[in-house]
Order: sequence, then C-alpha cells, then structure tokens
Amino acid sequence: MRFAETGFNLEVDLSRGNIERVATDPRWTELHLGGLGTNARILWDRVPADAEPFSPENLLIFGTGLLCGTPAVGCNRTIVSTISPLTRLMAYSMMGGFWAPELKYAGYDKVVVRGRSPDLVYLWINNDKVELRDASHLRGKGAIETEALIKKELDEPRAQVSAIGLAGENRVYFASIEQGKSSASRGGLGAVMGDKGLKAIAVRGTKDVNVARPDEFMELCDQALEYIRIRKDRPIPGVMPILAGLGSPAEMAVHDEKWHTENFMWGNARTRRKGFWNEEIAKSWENTLESWRTRLISCYNCPMKCAATITIPGLPTYMMKCFSKLTYTMAAMSDLDFGLKIAQKATEYGVDGFSAPQVMAFALELLQAGLLTEADMPGLPPDNEGRFHWLLDRIVRREGIGDVLANGTHWAAQQIGKGAEEYAHNNIKKQEQLPLKLGMLNQIYFLMYCTGEKINITQIEGNFPQAPFPTRQEREEFVKDWVQVPDERFKEWFLEWELRGEKSIPNYPPPEATCEIVNWQEQMHHIDDALGICAGLSSFPLKPPYHMHNLPKFISAAAGIEMDEAGLKKAAWRNRNLVRAVSIRRGMRRADEKPPADHWKNRFPELEAKLLDTYYKFRGWNRDGIPTKESLHDLDLDFVGEDFLRRGILKEGETPAASEKQPSEGTKP
Ligand code: SF4
Repeated sequence: MRFAETGFNLEVDLSRGNIERVATDPRWTELHLGGLGTNARILWDRVPADAEPFSPENLLIFGTGLLCGTPAVGCNRTIVSTISPLTRLMAYSMMGGFWAPELKYAGYDKVVVRGRSPDLVYLWINNDKVELRDASHLRGKGAIETEALIKKELDEPRAQVSAIGLAGENRVYFASIEQGKSSASRGGLGAVMGDKGLKAIAVRGTKDVNVARPDEFMELCDQALEYIRIRKDRPIPGVMPILAGLGSPAEMAVHDEKWHTENFMWGNARTRRKGFWNEEIAKSWENTLESWRTRLISCYNCPMKCAATITIPGLPTYMMKCFSKLTYTMAAMSDLDFGLKIAQKATEYGVDGFSAPQVMAFALELLQAGLLTEADMPGLPPDNEGRFHWLLDRIVRREGIGDVLANGTHWAAQQIGKGAEEYAHNNIKKQEQLPLKLGMLNQIYFLMYCTGEKINITQIEGNFPQAPFPTRQEREEFVKDWVQVPDERFKEWFLEWELRGEKSIPNYPPPEATCEIVNWQEQMHHIDDALGICAGLSSFPLKPPYHMHNLPKFISAAAGIEMDEAGLKKAAWRNRNLVRAVSIRRGMRRADEKPPADHWKNRFPELEAKLLDTYYKFRGWNRDGIPTKESLHDLDLDFVGEDFLRRGILKEGETPAASEKQPSEGTKP
C-alpha cells in the first residue's frame, strides 16, 4: 500500500483524447517527495529542451503535494508546472483552495496534460470515471463563472474546478488558472492551458488517503494546530502587521496598509508616496473593506481565513486573495476601492494580479513618454481607472495594442522598440515583479531574487527576519523561543545584526552567513512545494508551526518513508537543482540572475559579483551558476550531469572552484 500519496497519476493526451491512469514509481517519492519535485522530474524527462511553450509537446502538470489530503493543517497546495511563455523557463505556481485534496480523494497524485485539443474541452474527474467533455459553450466565459456553470452542468456542487478565463483562452502570457479563492497565477500557466484547448478541470473524490502511522501523525497534527492557536495570541512585536502573525501575506483581515502603500511603488513601479496613509484614508479603507468583505474564508483544512468573499453593489461576488487588493490600485494611482472593483473583472478574465497591473501602468507610462500615442489607443478614456478597464479589456481579447501588451512588458517593449525596453524595468528573468524599491542593497534578498527558481519577489520571503531589530534587547527577546532555526549560528548572526555601522547590510551578515541564510529559506520553500504545505504556515512567516525539525517526523509518519533532517535537506536541494536544471537546459545563465535594475538605490557591483560567486561555490555550482557533475552525482542526478556534458553546458572535470567559465549572454527570445 502507498501512504500519503495514491501512487497513480492521470495522463491526459488532448491531441488524441486519450486518458490513462498510470502507476508511479515509489522511488521517485523517496527522492523528490512529490509536488514540485516530481513535477520537475517529469518535465526534465519528457519535455524536450527546445520545446516551445505553446506546443503540444509542452506539458502542463497539476501536482498535489505529498501531504495534501492528510489531516496536516494547511496542506492543500496544487503545484502547477510548465514551460512559461513569459520567461521561456520552467514555471511553477502554487494554488491553495480545495483542488489538490479533492484530486487525492479521487485517487490521483497528479494530472499530466500533453498535446493540444482541436476543440475547447474540459476534464471531468469523478473518482474512477474520467472524461473529456465539450466546452464550446464555455468559450469566453469568466473563470469563476465557468466553475459555477460546470458544477451546475454536472449536478455536482461539491466538485472542485480549476478554470481559465478569456486571458488563458487567448494565450495572454500572464494568464492565470483560477480556482475559487485561489489561483496559480505566475508564469503564464493559464496561457499554456488555453493553448492546449483545456478550459477547466473539475474533480470530485470520495476515497481515502492512507497514512502510515496514524496515531503518531495525528499527534503531530495536533501539536501544529495548538502552536497556531498559541501564536495567534502572540504576534511578533516590531515587525509590519503581515509579518507579525501566520498565514498568507496581506491577508484580507488586515486593514492597516500603511507599510505597503508608503513603501511599495505606485504607477509603473516609480512613485513612492510617503505620508499617503493618514487617518482619513485609514478610516475610509476600513469602511470599504468592512462593508464589501462579506466573509473571511480559508483553504482546505486551515483555520487561518486569509481570503475573503467580496460583494460590491452591482457586481457578482468573488473571492479575493492576497495582495491583489492593492496591486491594481497602486499601479493605477487610484483610490483604494478601485482595486477591489477591477479585481472582480480581472479574476473572471484570469490574469496574474502582479503582472497585469504592471503591464497596464507600463502602457500608460509609454503613452506619457510619447512612445505610444493616442492613435495606438483609440477611445482610451481620460481617467486612470477608466484607462485600466479599457486596457484590461483589450489585453485579454488581444485587440489592437492589447495584442502587444498581452505578451508582458519585456516582450511588448521589444515589439514597440524606440527605447521602450527602459520602461520594462521591474522584471526578473522577463517576469514583472512586486513594485518594491528600497535604499540599501539587502544581500540576502539579492541572492534570493537573483537565483530563486520561483522568479518571484513575493512568496520567497523566509523565516529569517528581513531586517535587524533596532536594539540588542529586542533581538535577545526574539531568539528566546526561536526553535525553527537550523542551528544556533543563525541566532548569533541575528543577535549581531545592527541597523547601522559595521554590522549592518550589505556587509553583515557576511557572505558565508548570507549563503547559509539564503539556503535555509530556499530549502523551506522547496520542502513546502514538494509537500503541498501553504507557505503561510511554513516557509514565509517568522516562527511558523512547520519547520526543519518537525517536518521529517510528519513525512515519516504520513508516508512511511524514514526521513531525518539531513535527508529532508538533501531532497529539497535535489529538487532545487532539478528545477534549475530544466531552465539551464533552456539557456538560463548567470547573466540572467539579477534583480530589477532599480530595486535598490545603493548597489555594489563588486560585492554583488562576490556574493554570486560565493553562493554558487557554496552550492556546488560553477561560476555560471550551473551545478557541476560532481554535485549532481551527490544528489543522485547523474542523468542531469550527463545531459549537460553531452550538450556542452558543462565540461568534463569542471568543479565549483576551478571553473573559469565566463557569464553567457543569457537567454535569447
Ligand atoms: S494560511 Fe491562509 S493561504 Fe495558507 S492554507 Fe491557510 S487559509 Fe490558505
């Protein structure tokens, strides 16, 4: 018997209309755990290195984490992976909600989609009965509308439905996959789904998921729940509200947006509005949120209630999650309520709430600079809010200038030319980022932005505080119950970390310690993404219930795999290298590993080069950021090393220290 997982994937070939239930190899679970790890293994094995994102040979994988569907709190993530049209590298995005546990209960760990359907279809998974159904009547329908229509059509109100909207159907490079209160938004996964002619996947499952040692596992689950309860009453003092507690960042219960509105950038990631948050605005925002937010809601098996239903007079009710409540508002330089209004439409269209507002603000900045003209935007309304609605409607339909903007700021700028590239300034590896601009380079986040395979400024934050606490006394207080640290050195680094002087950023923590901190944070994210744990309860907040010391016990008790801390770290590191390898094989190199050009005002090119060198070496990568044959061997990834040698990506005998390989030109379109 397989524990925690079902041991079966669904393989769906949309070109041939073929569906197979395929047994999976349990050794892969031991090596990669599940979720993102096994998704990456499938992408590596089966998607050719030169496959176009929009091609039948690209795969779209919906993978559940290993612990999804077990009673472990907050284990509900679907990890969706593919080759991104936006970055042309491997993309993955984690979707909360209820879909992953439902798939497990139907008897499958993953749905692996290949090919391209000649007609628009949706997949209906009802335990053992799986079929492709005509979706021509759903063409052009909103993602949430589609969910409701499919449930009605199937007469199955308890089905969980992941769907795309018009943006996905029209292959907008930043189209999302929506599912109730959650979405897989980053990297254009919805565009790949649209290219495949797949409107939705509905699933209903009523089977059991078995765990290996139930009593032990339930004891661990109870401990995690109890810790969440205790932490609720003990917010961490001295940090911004979203970091003080647990749960998803910018959860919908929080009213206080002073930090975001005054520290993040408005417009096309340009304008900082110090002093914006005053008493009048705080009151009006609280009133708006309290009257339109009709209910706080949670993902499957979680008490945190990070999301909310939003009911605005005259508009259908929708579910708002995470930071989208401010991204549209700030990009449009509008009133705060505008973001909640346009997000209803954007959710139905199915677009990424980080990229879409940035693309529209970019277009308006180009208009202001004369690189686009009124002739490019006939009928554009005079006001910013009207302009955002106008642009969004055209982008998702790929009409006129919308057809260019639908490819994201990087590719749109190349198409527009005339220097427009300078305005696509807030990207990492061609993907739009959170509009945050800061003063002094933070070396920990420099490395995380540059090298993170998630290609995301959000959702990569970690368990080490983002900034030092002002006084030694506050720091001593913080480390007292900091049980999550891998070892005592992390406490020492934090205790010594000062706001100013010799022991402040960017020189402290020193490069080696910085590598260790980055490594810890990345490990935690990769563990979450393999196990399907919400980052809000593990890799994201300070002092979470899940950490390196209790997670091996969860895995052992649930899956029956004997796991210890060293084994878990190795599995996370193996997965990270494999995800990286998929992108390296597609051309990703050191030259691509950089933060948005103006993310920090104070930059230090020599230090930054040293940081990258040190981190690459620390990780067993060569000077171009490519894992060496030896380090791949240590991770049981010899097949990757051999492939790299065959392709000339690595040379025989190359070591992290000896490599003199120069940075390449980076990925070409
Ligand atoms: S912490 Fe929030 S986002 Fe995470 S699973 Fe719970 S409700 Fe969902």
